[in-house]
Amino acid sequence: MSERKNTMFNPAMEAMSRDERTALQSKRLRETVRREYDNVPVYRARMDEIGVKPEDIRGIEDLKHLPFTEKTDLRDYFPYGLFASPLQDIVRIQGSSGTTGKPIVAGYTANDVEVWTEMMARTLSAAGAGKDDIVQVAYGYGLFTGGLGAHQGAGKIGATVIPMSSGNTHRQLLMLRELGTTILCCTPSYALYLGESLREAGVDPKDIKLRAGCFGAEPWTEAMRKRIEELLGIDALDVYGLTEICGPGVAFECMEKHGMHINEDHVIAEILDPVTHEPLPCGQSGELVFTTITKEGMPMLRYRTHDICVLDDTPCACGRTLVRMGRITGRTDDMLVIRGVNVFPSQIESVLVGVQGVAPHYMLVVDRVHSTDTLEVQVEMTDQMFSDTVSHIEQLKQLIRDRIKQVVGITASIKLVAPRSIPRSEGKAKRVIDNRKL
Ligand code: ADP
Ligand code: ZN
Repeated sequence: MSERKNTMFNPAMEAMSRDERTALQSKRLRETVRREYDNVPVYRARMDEIGVKPEDIRGIEDLKHLPFTEKTDLRDYFPYGLFASPLQDIVRIQGSSGTTGKPIVAGYTANDVEVWTEMMARTLSAAGAGKDDIVQVAYGYGLFTGGLGAHQGAGKIGATVIPMSSGNTHRQLLMLRELGTTILCCTPSYALYLGESLREAGVDPKDIKLRAGCFGAEPWTEAMRKRIEELLGIDALDVYGLTEICGPGVAFECMEKHGMHINEDHVIAEILDPVTHEPLPCGQSGELVFTTITKEGMPMLRYRTHDICVLDDTPCACGRTLVRMGRITGRTDDMLVIRGVNVFPSQIESVLVGVQGVAPHYMLVVDRVHSTDTLEVQVEMTDQMFSDTVSHIEQLKQLIRDRIKQVVGITASIKLVAPRSIPRSEGKAKRVIDNRKL
């Protein structure tokens, strides 16, 4: 494991006194609220409706008076309805899967890209990375924020970037060994898979140069951390983010490995009681809600992540004064994260409803095989289809697989089952069996 101390990319911000930070947050919050009210009709209408004017928000203590923003808002006002900057100032669009097959997009001004880049530069610096490092980015590139986020951050710290994107394990390992990669960025499940593959190839972790990894975009556990660290001989650090706020880097772990520091000079985090939606004090578990305070393109006021975690404001030995969030322990909605992709059962349902020969009774079985997430979609056939030829049934499976791939973006295995074989429930239907041990 690494001997190097973690360094701060921006000590003035990362180790700022709490009082100074509160003042900075309050100032930036006032500016953001004004920007939203003046430029985004949806926000203005919402604030007017509850009788809150921008001047009523004097500081972070008034945050609780602001309305919430939901993922469905990004879908409903798709594509540009929540933008607070004119399109000519938008230099980037990134995206993620929405709730009903319609994607959600986020727009960034040049400054927004810069802020996001710095968040990932802080993340990598906390893992001990600098300009002597070779950073292999094995997150997917494209609309998904993982690849580009890590890429930009690695560029910012002056490291050598290898933009591998995801997949092609054989080539990943070849590059990792031959080029002497020192820092790896990918999902934790992929890191585990790479580690196992390396072992199978008979490579001793001592013979590779890898020192640390920044792993995120999906939930993982302490047990997984231990295993990854063992297999690859590295420090494995957690990184959290979401497209709506900017992407990965919203919060990052330091070498203390005791929760992820939230970049509070750019976002304000709240934890809400999942039922009453009242803010909870540090140390209590609830729904994580973010307000961006420096974003220009698409600022978010009290964005409900639906991720459940705890905040910790006790001092951290690394010297950062940024509050830490614990691991994500669950979600308040039915969103699944499969291979880093957000999947809603309703998306699968919308595909099935449009296919002839199947009944709208289905079950999603998620598992983790050889550290890769798998999704099996079990669907009931109609009586008529059930007595049809094998080749027809194969065609039907192919069709469903293709449509799911189009809508959700991941490949599922399809299992057609006999009519009336999926258990019916009397209350809320149970559509998902998640066998991953997380
Ligand atoms: P990303 O590109 O970071 O995956 P998305 O917007 O596609 O962004 O997905 C964001 C969601 O992914 C989060 O709301 C959370 O549920 C999950 N997620 C991201 N990072 C982590 C992490 N480190 N631990 C647990 N869940 C995470
Ligand atoms: Zn720390």
